[in-house]
Amino acid sequence: MKLILANPRGFCAGVYMAVDVVDQLLDICEDEQICVYHEIVHNRNVVDRFRSRGVLFVEDIKDAPDDSIVVFSAHGVSPEIRRQCEERNLLAVDATCPLVTKVHAQAIRLEKKGYQILLIGHANHQEVIGTRGEAPNAIQIVETVEDIPNLSIDDPAKVAYLTQTTLSTDDAAIIIEALRKAFPLIKDPPSSSICYATTNRQHAVRILAPACDVVLVVGSRNSSNSVRLTEISENIGTRAYLIDDAGEIDPTWFDGVETALITAGASAPEHLVKRVIKELIERHGGVVEQHHVDRENVEFGLPGSLKKMMRERDIDPEGRRIQINMGKEFNDWLDSEDIDHVDVDLTIGESS
Ligand code: SF4
Repeated sequence: MKLILANPRGFCAGVYMAVDVVDQLLDICEDEQICVYHEIVHNRNVVDRFRSRGVLFVEDIKDAPDDSIVVFSAHGVSPEIRRQCEERNLLAVDATCPLVTKVHAQAIRLEKKGYQILLIGHANHQEVIGTRGEAPNAIQIVETVEDIPNLSIDDPAKVAYLTQTTLSTDDAAIIIEALRKAFPLIKDPPSSSICYATTNRQHAVRILAPACDVVLVVGSRNSSNSVRLTEISENIGTRAYLIDDAGEIDPTWFDGVETALITAGASAPEHLVKRVIKELIERHGGVVEQHHVDRENVEFGLPGSLKKMMRERDIDPEGRRIQINMGKEFNDWLDSEDIDHVDVDLTIGESS
């Protein structure tokens, strides 16, 4: 069987940063309780790993013990959550992805300018809850085209839209087009709020899935961008399965399969992808082809709140930056496992 590995796949810069924040806090705060408001990233494996190291995940700030350190997840929080932490004098470390923070800032700016904001996204997703909290009186959620007739718009010349960062670019385009038809003067955001990582992982599946018999997406069911990858593949006409890890693979999925595509959502760690590859190669043999569709060169530094805490503890934050070099490390692993592999370069650009 030919195993095609989509590139880019897996951890994005925001997830690297958020996971690193919790790892760093566990290193430097040995005797303090670390709490994370909501799952740090939507991946069961990552959350279980931190839970086993003593991190407490809470869905309500009331459940954070006194004197604990509270980390805000990569999905961001509403100002109300920040207020609740301040009220309780809890030390907050903000691991919100800067690209989510950018959407918050756009919502605040639009509200100040008197716009009503249509936020395209999933109403119950943590990111949407957080963004909505920045301007609750100005924001209405649009989940589907069917929601548009029910919107309450005061002045059609003062309407703008924003999107959740992890939507399917295809689905969002359909809703945006319908919004433009309903409100011809609607204001676009300065740049797409669907982030580079979501866009690139979806682009890779669109390019690679048509030539494959089956697609495996490594990611958790509550990971919006992972679910979108399976949907995109199914829409193209290639069967797709979302799996948390290799243990969920059903061998019958590969009956008669000549070419399989493996990708991973932005919150899925690379070691889970490796286990999937190992399992499939052991069972079916074959060559791994890494197809590089886009190159990514995006990195986010540690959040200011964590750097400040480090300096107060005489730790130099600059010396603790994580180094991302997934490509080399991955090829070394393939060599060490004696897995035949080739790299195929299909890139046309780079995200930086
Ligand atoms: S998927 Fe995009 S918005 Fe979400 S954490 Fe990653 S880079 Fe940030």
